[in-house]
Amino acid sequence: MPSPTLAFVNAAAILPGRVLEDAVILARDGRIVSVGVRDKLAVPADARRVDGGGGYFAPGYIDVHVHGGEGADYMDGTPDAARIANRAHARHGTTTIFPTTTTGSPEQLEAMLRACAEVRGDWTAADGARIAGVHYYGPYFAENKVGCHLKSGRRDPDPAEYERAFDLDIVRIATCAAELPGAEAFYRACARRGYLITCGHSNASWTEMSRAYEAGARHVDHFWCAMSSVVSLRDRFGTPMQGSMEQFVYRHAEMSTEVIADGCHLSPELLAFAAWIKSPARLLLVTDANRALDMPPGRYRFGPSADGEWFESDGKVGFQPGHGLASSVVGMDTMVRNMHRLGGVPLYDAVRMGSLTPAERTGIAADAGSLEAGKYADVLVLDRELNVKRVYIGGAAFGG
Ligand SMILES: [Zn+2]
Ligand SMILES: [Zn+2]
Repeated sequence: MPSPTLAFVNAAAILPGRVLEDAVILARDGRIVSVGVRDKLAVPADARRVDGGGGYFAPGYIDVHVHGGEGADYMDGTPDAARIANRAHARHGTTTIFPTTTTGSPEQLEAMLRACAEVRGDWTAADGARIAGVHYYGPYFAENKVGCHLKSGRRDPDPAEYERAFDLDIVRIATCAAELPGAEAFYRACARRGYLITCGHSNASWTEMSRAYEAGARHVDHFWCAMSSVVSLRDRFGTPMQGSMEQFVYRHAEMSTEVIADGCHLSPELLAFAAWIKSPARLLLVTDANRALDMPPGRYRFGPSADGEWFESDGKVGFQPGHGLASSVVGMDTMVRNMHRLGGVPLYDAVRMGSLTPAERTGIAADAGSLEAGKYADVLVLDRELNVKRVYIGGAAFGG
């Protein structure tokens, strides 16, 4: 017996490049079957209607850089921790998630990967955001760009370690600082597996970035944060001053990057500038959220609960007194709203940066990232202020 049709009605649909007023979205068996306007697309009599309340329908958000939420960090290494974080982010509109590793011991990293594989394996919509893969982010950071991560958990790339990790078949995005010994071999191993390859927590020069690009790197983590600049390279090499990761990303159309648009890491003009210089197809919104998301202000550990570095949250952002910021404590709903309002980006482009662009860069755009026929019925009901009212993941209502 065919399953009933789900009909999303009475809201505007945010599509790639435009907003469709009076939209109707029909979904069946977890996937979108058609998108149209009220007068032209008939709703089957037996359809189950979802009333958009005059707001917006947006594609479920996709977060490629996220550490945790609601008290849990993925590096806690348990399926429970992953589910808690996935549910917390789903409430903020994230329906596809790439849990992100930090620095830590090989055992801690392996536990995290296995926990995420387990959660992905028996996932239902009640578990929150769907894990599309893990972002293997730490431990291969430059020593002087470790940021809020535990320094003792940093190391240079070790093929025995990362090949074993990759063989678990859960990694889809991988980061390494380009100046580290073994970085190129790491990038080539990732390229063979088809990962999105990124350079971050790095003080790399133009020359090192060129080698990274040659080996397959196409992305830079959290732009302007924990990366090289002309000035940081002058400190490293003296004069003549030379091009940094920043100029490299500007110069290469194929390079994408991401911003933490929580309003605390980057000013409005930097959000606008990033959108202008990279275009919405090469700029991603990420939360980079840690376990303090949806938790009261206080002291928390970044990374593993056992020995992660301490930071504080004031409810707006994470920080280490005297050392600077320690990633965000807000969800994708906030990032999209800020990119639109503070960054001055059209609504459909701000949404694209949090959905279709990450889907394209990670190779999952056939299934996710936009409200188009054939894709998962990952649909957000937003009010006109862009607050998340309801979340559908694969056509199933989350939390309702
Ligand atoms: Zn980082
Ligand atoms: Zn991070």
